[in-house]
Amino acid sequence: TDPASSIEELTAQRDQARKDHADLVARGLKLDLTRGKPSPKQLDLSDALLDMGGPAVGADGTDLRNYGGLAGLPELREIFSSSLQVPTEQLLAAGNSSLELMHDAIAFAMLHGLPGGERRWADEPEIAFLCPVPGYDRHFGVCEKLGIEMINVPMTPEGPDMDTVERLVAEDSRIKGIWCVPKYSNPDGTIYSDETVRRLAAMPSAAPDFRVFWDNAYAVHHLTETEHEIADLLALCAEHGNPDRAFVFGSTSKITYAGAGVSFFGSSQANIDWWLAATSKRSIGPNKVNQLQHVRLLRDAEGLREQMRKHAALIRPKFEAVDKILGSELGDTGLASWSKPEGGYFINLEVPEGCAKAVVAKAKEAGIAMTPAGATHPYGEDPTDSVIRIAPTYPELPDVEAATQALATCVRLAATEKLLA
Ligand code: PLP
Repeated sequence: TDPASSIEELTAQRDQARKDHADLVARGLKLDLTRGKPSPKQLDLSDALLDMGGPAVGADGTDLRNYGGLAGLPELREIFSSSLQVPTEQLLAAGNSSLELMHDAIAFAMLHGLPGGERRWADEPEIAFLCPVPGYDRHFGVCEKLGIEMINVPMTPEGPDMDTVERLVAEDSRIKGIWCVPKYSNPDGTIYSDETVRRLAAMPSAAPDFRVFWDNAYAVHHLTETEHEIADLLALCAEHGNPDRAFVFGSTSKITYAGAGVSFFGSSQANIDWWLAATSKRSIGPNKVNQLQHVRLLRDAEGLREQMRKHAALIRPKFEAVDKILGSELGDTGLASWSKPEGGYFINLEVPEGCAKAVVAKAKEAGIAMTPAGATHPYGEDPTDSVIRIAPTYPELPDVEAATQALATCVRLAATEKLLA
């Protein structure tokens, strides 16, 4: 095409976007796409948790009101064993936050060292973690707080770029861990391929106490009829001679109550013994009454699936609305691309390089709160300034629609301004 006419066209697009944006600002909207939280209607699905529904007695007759049971309630661990791919005996049920367990795993490694390690992490001159990007900001926050250097690794449609991961882990003994959200990844919805999982399990590591932090936060959080399965990291690690490599985490935060659920930690028996030795000095046992309430609500693995189908019915229309509106507003402009996740909580929007911060700023002017550009990367720095995370679950559908429409206008404005600059 004739470059003059395409500049003319772009200028017309920009002028239209400026006008649309001014109209938006005048409307004085107040909407929020930042929060990866369940909506109140989703929380309502679990209100049976508030009724005790029977005495606080475990299946084996234990009085759950009392101290004890550091490993958590066996009948609840049993329900989650298959979806988290950890044998019940090696799966612990803990407090209400898996993030807390990830933090503690690193803190215990710092303070006590790990099975297979030569020294405590605190005594290592330097420690680094591989961070597939885009990723979950709170993982990066834990590393930053605990003084762990973060090394970016690009994500691919199959999971982290494994050629890079294998090379770095094999040659650099400072690298003690990698953050992985293997199913419906935050924020891009990626499902790790079987080959990626196998390579993570099998690759040689320079550090003898290297761990894969396997945050399977969205293990059962399907948005479609297809309940995607991933390969079994824990079993593959054992098979490939790295039995202690996998630290598996999960929680019911987006299954029952985000603020009052149950978290899980699974690993090899040696790691579980290590974990219990450390936590036995910290607590006499978790809140087993809440764990029993979860057993009564979910009943069994089938009850868990049923609960997740109810969540999907509530949130799928919101994901579909975002996709449809971005498609009609931006689909043929070449100004953006976005993920179409089949599960999880987020949509990843990619805009032309150098535009993400400007899009978020223009959205703010129009009253739309977006997750800060850069939050998906260590230290809050996206070197390409192109990634924006959309969290559609919390607002009601009409608000999701209005916010996405407005966001699309901001993308058109920021991208055309950048291209003409
Ligand atoms: N891991 C991932 C990947 C998440 O997206 C979230 C919440 O958004 C969490 C962990 C938080 O888990 P929890 O509520 O169990 O601490």
